[in-house]
Order: sequence, then C-alpha cells, then structure tokens
Amino acid sequence: MDLHHQTIHELRNLLDKGEISSEELTQKVLSHIEQTEKQLHAFITITPELALEAAKRFDQSRQAGKKPGALAGIPLGIKDNFLTKGSRTTCGSKILGNYIAPYSGTSTQRLLDAGGVMVGKLNMDEFAMGSSNETSAFGEVHNPWDLELIPGGSSGGSAAAVAAGQCSAATGTDTGGSIRLPAALCNLVGMKPTYGRVSRYGVIAFASSLDQVGPLTKDVTDAALMLQVLAGHDPLDSTSLDVPVPHYAQSLVPDVKGWKIGIPKEYFVAGMDPEVEAAMLQAIKTLEGLGAQCGEVSLPHTDYGVPVYYILATAEASSNLARYDGIRYGYRNKEAKELISLYEKSRTEGFGDEVKRRIMLGTYVLSAGYYDAYYLKAQKARTLIRQDFTQVFKNYDVILTPVSPTAAWKLKEKTGDPLKMYLSDIFTINVNLAGLPGMSLPCGFTQGGLPIGMQLIGDSLQEEKLLRMGYAYEQATEWHKRRPKL
Ligand code: GLN
Repeated sequence: MDLHHQTIHELRNLLDKGEISSEELTQKVLSHIEQTEKQLHAFITITPELALEAAKRFDQSRQAGKKPGALAGIPLGIKDNFLTKGSRTTCGSKILGNYIAPYSGTSTQRLLDAGGVMVGKLNMDEFAMGSSNETSAFGEVHNPWDLELIPGGSSGGSAAAVAAGQCSAATGTDTGGSIRLPAALCNLVGMKPTYGRVSRYGVIAFASSLDQVGPLTKDVTDAALMLQVLAGHDPLDSTSLDVPVPHYAQSLVPDVKGWKIGIPKEYFVAGMDPEVEAAMLQAIKTLEGLGAQCGEVSLPHTDYGVPVYYILATAEASSNLARYDGIRYGYRNKEAKELISLYEKSRTEGFGDEVKRRIMLGTYVLSAGYYDAYYLKAQKARTLIRQDFTQVFKNYDVILTPVSPTAAWKLKEKTGDPLKMYLSDIFTINVNLAGLPGMSLPCGFTQGGLPIGMQLIGDSLQEEKLLRMGYAYEQATEWHKRRPKL
C-alpha cells in the first residue's frame, strides 16, 4: 500500500526499523498533498518548511539514539481553529483571515512534543458552524470518495485530508457532531472524548459547554494512540478534568463477550436511508457474533436534542464571538470613523451568513424577557437528555446508533435550507449535550460506494470501552481498510 495510506502504527513500525526516514515520509506526503489538493481543498494553509524542518529534527534525534515520542515523524493535520504558533489560524473565517497566534494550544503542543509533524492547517466550517464544510470563508471541501459530495463538517478538511492520505491523522473539534459526522462520511474513526478529557486551551471557542477536541484517524488503534497524547489534565483549561488517563493501548483487545449494547429505538426512525439501516443491523449481528448482547433501550427525550442544542450553542456562540470587534484582533474595516460603526462594519464584512444567523439567534434567546422561556428551559431539557443516558448506562456498557441518517450528500444540496442542514446532526448532538464520549467508525458502504458510519456512545470517561468494542468490531470486518481512489 502507498505510504500515505498507511496508519500511524504501520508507519511507526517502518520508521522504527529504519526502513524510511521521517524526512522521506514527509516529502512523500507533501507531494501527495500537491497532487490532490486542487481536487479536495482540504487545507487552508500548508506548512511544508515547518514540516520538513521538524522531520529532519526527528531523524537526527533518532540517529542520536534518543527514544522517539509516540508520534515521532508522523505527518499530522491540525484543524484551523487550533492556535499554532508561527502559522496562521483562521477558524475558517475572514475575520481571522491573517491572524497569527502568539502561542500554540495545549493539545497541539502535546502532539508536537510527541514528535508529530504538522503539514498544515485544515479547512473547516466558519467557526465550526456547519455540517458540510460549506460555510468556510476559504471555500468548500470535497469528499475524496466522490468529489461532487460534501465531506461532512465542521471538521471536513480534517476528514478529507486523512481519508485521502494527505496526513496520517488530524485533530478536530466536536460541538454537536463535527468529528463524528465527517469521519463517518469519509470512512474514518472519529473520537469525541468526554467533555473535559482533552484540554481546549488554545482552541477557538464556539459553544463552550459543548466543545471538545478529538482525533480523526484511519483505525481504532490510531485513535487510541492519538487520544493517549491528547488526553489529560491541563491547569490552563478550567473545564479540564483532573483525573488519571488510562493506558488506552490496553483497551485494544478483541473481546467483548458478554458486553451489553443498548440500541435506542428513537434512533431508528422514518427518514433514515434504508442502506444505513441495513448496515446498522449488519453491525449489530457482527457484534452479537462476537458474543455481545444487544437489547432495545429508550432515550425518551431524544427529539428535544436539536432544538435544545440550537438554543444553547447559539447563545454561547453569540457571547464567545463578541470578542471579534475589529479592534483587539482580526479583520478591521478601514473606513469607519467612529467606534460603533467600526464594530458594525468589521463584523458585517468579517463574518459569513451562517455565523451571523447564529449570533442573531443566540442574542435573541439570551435577551431580557426571553431568557427564561428559551435558555433556561433548554438547560432543563438538557438535564433530562443527560438523565436518559445515565439511566441506560446502569444496565449497558455502550450504546450503538447510526452517525448520520444518510451517507454523504451533494454539494449545495442543503445550503439553501438551514433547518435541513441542522437535522444532519440529530444522532450526534445529544452526546455533546450529555458531555459523553462518542466514537464513529466505518461499518459499511452504499451501493454507490459511499462510506457509512456507526456510533458507539459510552458513559462518562469510558473511552476505553469504546476503543475496545471498536477494536473488536474492526478485527472482524474490513470496512476500515478501504481507501478512496483519487
Ligand atoms: N453541525 C453542528 C453545528 O453546526 C455541529 C458543529 C460542530 O460540532 N462544531 O452547530
């Protein structure tokens, strides 16, 4: 198999044995990016000099006999809402179009310290608002499985790049599904850890009570490797959990005998693509074949997820995005003569339509007189959603659902109808509202050759269970081994 299609653990093996150098690998990946990027547009910024410099450094330290870090020499892509010192961070927005951060965020720094070689910053929906990667101010991303289709969003650049072999793994953020949805639509493993498991220091905030950082990888073993580096307490993030990090590689055991899997009936509804439903049923059979026991469960408040999310996420976003005022950083209108019109013009010109829609919605639900009716009510419903999950986890190890009701759709198909776009996340959003870990993994293909993903949801801090079940499933199937032909 081509080098660029190999997993992190396969590449680590080649690097450790000295069969390839990090510099060679980086060169190969950079030239593959050059060949494919016109079609995909997965990157906002490519950083070849930084990458080659880092690769050479690791080769030298390896030759000097130093023990390599867990990701030494591995080409990685970083979503463009992660601050990276020395290269620009746009968040997919014109308002941060030329922004260069003075420091790298904790999660990025941990990847670099482990030896990861950053090849560039990945395209994304503006401020991570979207499900298709079409709201980016830098243009849409194309799905490597079919260039006329969306890759999923908002971490669409991350998914397209990893699936196409432009990097071995990438970071993403997931506020309502933005790691799991694009992973599913591009045949990858996408892990959204428990809220607080991974530091968000130096990640541009969208909705702070929901945002979480995680990896997109080619298989479950790589997901465990990446999570190991990313996870852990960070005193710089007040929501970061100060609890020990397990040794995730130990979860990679293909044994789920006697494990109990809950299948929520609310997730198998009318409107779901029959091919997606068939793939889920097949996955359930496979897991039962491995000795797991599947049973129907109920998460009765499921339907409230989308409305609750769009109240809370927009409210938090309207507050988080208040800092882009044209003064402190980012884009500034040059003609404005006084303060208010400077704010107005800079924000009008700097933000795209979807971001403006969310700021207006969020400002509305937080305004006096509406706060109790919307924001407070949504917080209460959020508690009920969370309690549904707690109830099920009393008797079950994991919950299994589809990631998306359909496979990837055509570019522009949903851009004219925001509500239709918002419904793309009905199966992922509640996991964020409950703060739980969720992982999407490849579980089939449509007749037309498009990837289908399934989602495993775990109780708080039970990432190990997801990895173990995902690993067991992966050992019994071949879906994750398929690569798109570009
Ligand atoms: N699609 C959802 C939204 O637009 C989720 C995005 C995300 O997870 N960042 O808000």
